[in-house]
Amino acid sequence: MSTAKQRKYWREARAVYRKRHPDRVKKAKKKWQLKNLHKHRIYNDRFRKKNPSYNKDYHVAHKEEILIQHLEYRTVPKNRMIVLLSAIKCKAKERGLAYNKDDMYNRFVSNPPTYCVCCNKILDYSTGKGRNRSDSPSFDRVDNSKGYEITNVEVICWDCNNKKSDSTIQNLETILKYMRERIEKTI
Ligand SMILES: [Zn+2]
Repeated sequence: MSTAKQRKYWREARAVYRKRHPDRVKKAKKKWQLKNLHKHRIYNDRFRKKNPSYNKDYHVAHKEEILIQHLEYRTVPKNRMIVLLSAIKCKAKERGLAYNKDDMYNRFVSNPPTYCVCCNKILDYSTGKGRNRSDSPSFDRVDNSKGYEITNVEVICWDCNNKKSDSTIQNLETILKYMRERIEKTI
């Protein structure tokens, strides 16, 4: 048997083994990771020595500078989308909801929205407003019973999202009905 053929044979054999014994493969992988953990630690220490900006002392000494850097980073629409999406990824993982990074990045990061889909207000990407962030962009699940599928996600202003929160169409309609009736009575 030639070497190429041998390689192909073993590649296929490994694939079969992996399929047949997923538990054994998982165990072996964990064992390997534990065995090689110290290598990563040595590499990390060397990296920190070479790049002092990654040291903890540096972060403590330049706390305000770093905070301003973070705030400035978020004012760029593309960066803001990345930050918001990373938070959504954690949320989806916590609640066991669907999330597809490639779809999200293709739609929102490559072309960040400028208007609120709900009220057509211009979205405000500036930072450092504290509680007064009614025009800031935020991600909304249109149907709250579904996950973060690409068809179920929109970027709307913080104000609209806050009003909508997790209410259904029925909830909002009852509120609308109540308001209309009351206002008509007072007139
Ligand atoms: Zn809005």
